[in-house]
Amino acid sequence: MYTMGVDIGSTSSKIIILEDGIKIIGNIVVQSGTGTSGPTIATAKAKSFLSNNNLTLDDISKIVVTGYGRFSFDIADKQISEITCHTKGINFLVPEARTILDIGGQDTKAISVNDKGQVLQFFMNDKCAAGTGRFLEVMAKILEIPLEKMGEYDRLSTNPVAISSTCTVFAESEVISQLSKGISKENILAGVHNSTANKVCGLLYRTGIKEKIVLCGGVAQNQGVVRALQEELKKEITIAPHPQMTGAIGAALFAYEEANKNL
Ligand code: ADP
Repeated sequence: MYTMGVDIGSTSSKIIILEDGIKIIGNIVVQSGTGTSGPTIATAKAKSFLSNNNLTLDDISKIVVTGYGRFSFDIADKQISEITCHTKGINFLVPEARTILDIGGQDTKAISVNDKGQVLQFFMNDKCAAGTGRFLEVMAKILEIPLEKMGEYDRLSTNPVAISSTCTVFAESEVISQLSKGISKENILAGVHNSTANKVCGLLYRTGIKEKIVLCGGVAQNQGVVRALQEELKKEITIAPHPQMTGAIGAALFAYEEANKNL
């Protein structure tokens, strides 16, 4: 039996095909961008992705969608919230997780879970880009560093600067001013990562920090943020396997449960 999970986020859409509720047979990340085009692009990509795997929509028993664009994705059988889907996905991938940190493009969420994988409580960032992937994208653009190289630059830092503004607009001016003083990109970027970790840890302190702490979301691919979080918390952080896909994996697992209800 095949099921599909889709996560339509603020910057990208993630699609998973799951076989028999256990085996991931295909996954893609599609840059669907912000705005209303996300669900339309995700629908077209989901169909072409199926055909690349020699499947059609008729082969898929159920489709569950999550993410902020979920209400406009017409081919889904059900919509489920991101908190629920990320928690389901992490519980499947790392059952020992007790604190989940999801840092996406627009939202950052800290979730505490019990040993049954049930959500105990969660906190999200307020309506502000600080501590999100968007903040990091803006800083990467000013520093002219590709997203996938941010970890590498961070590693080469010798003396991270302090970035005192959490507001993206003010932090942008601060970074430009540091650049004009001749401070290296590496040291500025490490400061940006430290400031992000500081903001994100505010959410973690509110949920309480029980180990294992598992990081997911697109920003989990940035080793600089992982370094800064570990330094701030003085604890080890586990990066989820397929960190950007955990919401879609959770959605595909829920789709499998839905399909079994109908048997
Ligand atoms: P959303 O679901 O809101 O679209 P994601 O969980 O996909 O968000 O995360 C998007 C964020 O992940 C981007 O804003 C960016 O900061 C970060 N990101 C994406 N790809 C990479 C990469 N290769 N290396 C480092 N960071 C990345």
